[in-house]
Amino acid sequence: MEPSVTPPHSSAPPHAADPLRACVHCGLCLEECPTYKLTGDENNSPRGRLLLWRAESEGRLPPDSWTDFYTDECVGCLACASSCPANVPYEAILKQARSTRVAAGRTRVRWPVALAARAVRIPRLFNAALLPLRLLRRLDLRPHPLIFPGKPAVAQSTADYARIMMARHRPTGPMVAFLTGCLMEALFREINFATVRVLIENNVRVLVPAGQGCCGALHEHTGLPGHKELAAQNHAAFAGIQVDRVVSNSAGCGLALSQSLTGTPVQDVLGFLSEIGVKPRTRQPTNHRIFVDLPCHLVHGQRASISESILDACGVPWEYAPNAHDCCGSGGVYNLNKPANARAILAGKAAFLDQLPETVSPILATSNHVCMMQWQTARSFIRHPFEVRHVIQLLDPEAAW
Ligand code: SF4
Ligand code: SF4
Repeated sequence: MEPSVTPPHSSAPPHAADPLRACVHCGLCLEECPTYKLTGDENNSPRGRLLLWRAESEGRLPPDSWTDFYTDECVGCLACASSCPANVPYEAILKQARSTRVAAGRTRVRWPVALAARAVRIPRLFNAALLPLRLLRRLDLRPHPLIFPGKPAVAQSTADYARIMMARHRPTGPMVAFLTGCLMEALFREINFATVRVLIENNVRVLVPAGQGCCGALHEHTGLPGHKELAAQNHAAFAGIQVDRVVSNSAGCGLALSQSLTGTPVQDVLGFLSEIGVKPRTRQPTNHRIFVDLPCHLVHGQRASISESILDACGVPWEYAPNAHDCCGSGGVYNLNKPANARAILAGKAAFLDQLPETVSPILATSNHVCMMQWQTARSFIRHPFEVRHVIQLLDPEAAW
């Protein structure tokens, strides 16, 4: 059974005059919040954070490290938004709280993250900077056990690959514009290529619009400036194009892009494939078993899921991972900023892997590259060997497993 996503209980709009006053303090969000579950600290819950921010905005609490600490503790998973009957616009409030703190110098963003946030604004530069990592992965030289296996193209871009594949296979069905992403293109290009193959195999015409950029999620997660410029860039690249759908293969990027492209339909590629129907894979019997984890930004951000029809089409027994709709602790760069919390959140979710029979070869499948990276870190404390894959790779006609 697919885990249910709790919809908002009311269609009432959030408090228009002051979103911080929209919270009715019911507490229904508390047990959904990973940091509250971890600490039992009310200040580390959505309700607690909202109260702190409101007290600060009304001048009852001076700006200080107290509220900054609890602001930084938030993973940004948006589970609270899904469970809130008052429709508190938690995501918008959190973004504002983060950017205000960074602008005032109250929250210091680590220099590698700040550097990356600048570099992704120039895709050529970012792609060039990560070329050595692509090369290492291409050559299967992985000096660190947490580096993903996979053989990304080193020089060929997804746009070039899509053009070649389109000319070779000439699909005639619906047309999509594909957001290739910054880290997805610079590091996980093999997943982009698999996405192109799966779409084309299912008779979808794939366009990779020129001029597109990073979705800006990194800037939103950190509070760093740059999101508006990237939103404008992507609006110029995508908004005027006549396609059936704009698709993304990363839940976080899809959410950020959908918020930039008002009026243009953006959908997770797996949701789109589920809608049009996807060719099933036929595989030899194997001791692999797929465990599906659902990214927060798919479930709580996009209010979508990964359908059973898509997972059936992978051709391998599958089930949803225990607590599949709970946060894995990745939260964009949360696992860099709050590694102890991120690890503790993941440890709770990943423990089931060590309970599996030895004969089972588990594949942890999800649909967000940042969640994939977070799950890969579980290899350092989970004894049972397991692989991490993007669901689209399990549908790939060229998948070598
Ligand atoms: S976004 Fe996630 S971590 Fe932050 S308050 Fe909401 S439920 Fe808790
Ligand atoms: S569920 Fe919504 S209204 Fe209730 S305490 Fe949480 S944020 Fe406030």
